[in-house]
Amino acid sequence: MDIDEIIERIEKVIEPHRIPFREPWKVLISTVLSQRAKDETTGMVSENLFRRYPDLRSIAEAKLDDLEDILRPIGFYREKARRIREIARILLKNYGGNVPDSKELLMNLPGVGTKTANIVLSVCFDQDYIAVDTHVHRITNRLGLVKTKTPEQTEKELMNIVDRKHWKKLNSLLVEFGKNICTPLRPKCVICPLNDICPSASLSLKK
Ligand code: SF4
Repeated sequence: MDIDEIIERIEKVIEPHRIPFREPWKVLISTVLSQRAKDETTGMVSENLFRRYPDLRSIAEAKLDDLEDILRPIGFYREKARRIREIARILLKNYGGNVPDSKELLMNLPGVGTKTANIVLSVCFDQDYIAVDTHVHRITNRLGLVKTKTPEQTEKELMNIVDRKHWKKLNSLLVEFGKNICTPLRPKCVICPLNDICPSASLSLKK
């Protein structure tokens, strides 16, 4: 199956997901908040957080109770409140209030794994990385592009088979595709532009 053709077909029906923030520290913190949370909830909570705490300094000096109150609608809010305050403090202390543009340095921050680092590097610093979240992992396995058990394995396999020119956009495209068509439960194979080439298309389509 040709990845160029797959991307081309998805692009015809899907608008890529856009992160609603431009400043790297906001992209970083909202991505940490998004871990194991729904996009809609993360968006709402991030907006509330940045309205009340409009810069890194204010987050670094925030009371933990107050951060927890704001983050309460998302999962693991206590852990995330501690993490984002720590991230703000580290960025101020070690990086002059900037977000580092290196994967190694990003992954030294609390709560930042390879997916979060890849999103920050590709969205904020225009670097070629494939951010593999649950949508990218599920869809590329359903399409038979990879055969993997974990997002980390998926990232490695995709880097071998996907042309570098597509790396940055793969996440934003597949996130929206996964929310609207190739959904986790009951994927909408009937309206999917890939249903003639996808090995996981519903059996009813193949009759
Ligand atoms: S045909 Fe179905 S399973 Fe395959 S990519 Fe489309 S929605 Fe997903």
